[in-house]
Amino acid sequence: MAEAVVQLRCGVKNDGWGKKAKDSLAAQLWSKTPGTGPMWMGTYPKVPSYLVSTGEPLQEYLKKHPRLVGKAVLDQYGADIPFLPKILSFAKALPLQIHPNKSLASRLHEQDPVKFADSNHKPEIAVALSNFELFVGWKPLADIQALFKLNSLERFVRSPGEFTDATLCDICEALLTASPETVASTIHELQSIPESQFGAYPYIPGMLARLQREYSEFDNGNLVAALLMNYLTLGPGDAVYVPADSIHAYLCGDIFECMARSDNVLNTGFCPRAQRDNIALFTQTLSFAPHNAAEALLPRRKSDKGLAGHTDVYAPPIAEFNVLATCLGAGETETHKSILGPSLMIVTKGCGTVNIPGDTTLHLKEGHVFFVGQGVPLDFYSKTGMAVFRAYTE
Ligand SMILES: [Zn+2]
Repeated sequence: MAEAVVQLRCGVKNDGWGKKAKDSLAAQLWSKTPGTGPMWMGTYPKVPSYLVSTGEPLQEYLKKHPRLVGKAVLDQYGADIPFLPKILSFAKALPLQIHPNKSLASRLHEQDPVKFADSNHKPEIAVALSNFELFVGWKPLADIQALFKLNSLERFVRSPGEFTDATLCDICEALLTASPETVASTIHELQSIPESQFGAYPYIPGMLARLQREYSEFDNGNLVAALLMNYLTLGPGDAVYVPADSIHAYLCGDIFECMARSDNVLNTGFCPRAQRDNIALFTQTLSFAPHNAAEALLPRRKSDKGLAGHTDVYAPPIAEFNVLATCLGAGETETHKSILGPSLMIVTKGCGTVNIPGDTTLHLKEGHVFFVGQGVPLDFYSKTGMAVFRAYTE
């Protein structure tokens, strides 16, 4: 009979923007093998996970034992896992990006299946494991309108009249298509203006100086991120939800990320010009939510899946997944009620055990990843404290 709970060996993707191996939580969690890229969990073909016990790809295992994913998932997605959790550690901003919605994703996939490997959308959530700095969504329109009355910025407002999302879109396009010289001179001019002239955003000149150090004074993304987007610093446990088509750039930190199973991305900044995608396509695709920092936050609520009250849930408004976070203090226990779909679980801190019916006890240690089949309650215990993230659908 198929084991319902199996330990996985996961792949790490090398992306160049990661922290150095020894500083990287992703590398630490991805035990033993040094790597600086994100750790991917699940069945995504480019970076698949394997069973530790047999070396078999998880995908094959699920095909052989479709019962493990449960009827609802089987009917909708087949013997597969419709979400993709990752651990990411980065010290330098990831490219400024959006992930296309379903209809655009399928069109792009048809036109260029190599670059856009998936016809699926990719809404994502990011949960901070350390302090996490990011840009996400847009500043409120009134604030952007006020900022663009500054002398150095007026020239980017090409459509006078009422200031709407369409105006914002035009400004974004003007910033993204500005010449390298214009970008550099604008950044310099903005740094000579007193911070007090930036209204609610006195950090802008300092942020531009920082981004310029990392990405040069010629990167159009510097202006888009600092002037148009919300800048957030999250503490451990805080999370954001990024809908499909929503602009974001992650600056620095360690995160647990979970997304619908897709790897499509359009990049326009914080990367070499040659790697930037078509700006017209980017701006046509943009959505205008969230429109302030608070809207981007994803609340953490108590979950009724945890019977002892040590489990919270991050539940984004999409069908593909929720994420449970179980934090145990020394000597504490927790029981997860059985879930009717597949889940992927990673220990992000500490160690302990999990007991599954039939009296199997598995040891859990920081960095261990497990697939858990549907319909299995889990009893956790930790002598010294432990944190576990578990992404699931049902
Ligand atoms: Zn992303």
